[in-house]
Amino acid sequence: MTAQIIDGKAVAADLRATVAARVAALGYNPGLTVILVGDDPASAVYVRSKDRAAREVGIDAHTIRLPADTSQAGLLAEIDRLNGDPQVDGILVQLPLPPHIDTIDVIGAIDPAKDVDGFHPLNVGALANGHPTLVPCTPSGVMQLLRRTGVTLTGARALVLGRSSIVGRPMANLLLAADATITVAHSRTRNLEAECRRAEILIAATGRPEMVRGEWIAPGATVIDVGINRLPDGRLVGDVHYMECAERAGAITPVPGGVGPMTIACLLENTVLAAVRRRG
Ligand code: NAP
Repeated sequence: MTAQIIDGKAVAADLRATVAARVAALGYNPGLTVILVGDDPASAVYVRSKDRAAREVGIDAHTIRLPADTSQAGLLAEIDRLNGDPQVDGILVQLPLPPHIDTIDVIGAIDPAKDVDGFHPLNVGALANGHPTLVPCTPSGVMQLLRRTGVTLTGARALVLGRSSIVGRPMANLLLAADATITVAHSRTRNLEAECRRAEILIAATGRPEMVRGEWIAPGATVIDVGINRLPDGRLVGDVHYMECAERAGAITPVPGGVGPMTIACLLENTVLAAVRRRG
């Protein structure tokens, strides 16, 4: 293996320490409320991790657990109440929501100033316009990993593999704002392998276990693997074939221990940012 391994755990620990120091200097505890609708086990695990991480840095974290049959009107009323609560700086609705609830309506009901996930259309638009406000946590974490690794972004050829609104699209906009030259690839892209091979920075976010193979990687490229996939044998792997790609990449994130830890750290950072902007 020749690639530098990008240690997301260490970078995330530094970021959490920075956030804790900022909170300690504020003179108040920023408030974060997470709403969990239903009993999806994976979502319950994520919500517990967010709650614990927030408390550890001094954020006043609360989780509201609502039954799976909560009506859309009931959920919107809860969001409305949190929008008006001055102690609440950040509101996060854990996705996915049950199928009878319209996710777009729900996200659109969150006060954009409290939208710590960065999914509200106003925050999405601000990012697309090159004036980021509250930025989605996973792509924000990727940018911090790239910067901490010392990767030159200006003018770099970057390929974002995936175009979801949670990862791919905001990722492309952040890289564009950092003056990289962006290609966004997806399931309809022709000759994906050749597109990948041109990339100096490759960000994989497809949800397809180990689909990016070693021979797709330009020698020396920086490879960021956003994917988290559980294989039938229980192993956790990314969207990149780690052992193969590490042979050719200049730097690469492992799974686990790469992008994953950054997501929650960036949520904490967004909560403090939202608090400072709102409360002055
Ligand atoms: P998603 O909403 O399912 O989007 C997947 C994207 O990949 C889509 O744009 C899709 O193209 C594209 N795609 C799928 N198969 C492809 C193929 N064979 N060739 C080329 N493109 C393909 O997924 P997501 O929410 O963005 O998540 C992506 C991955 O990141 C998942 O593994 C997820 O678990 C992980 N994730 C990790 C974190 C973290 O904290 N580390 C956070 C969020 C997500 P189309 O648009 O054409 O369908």
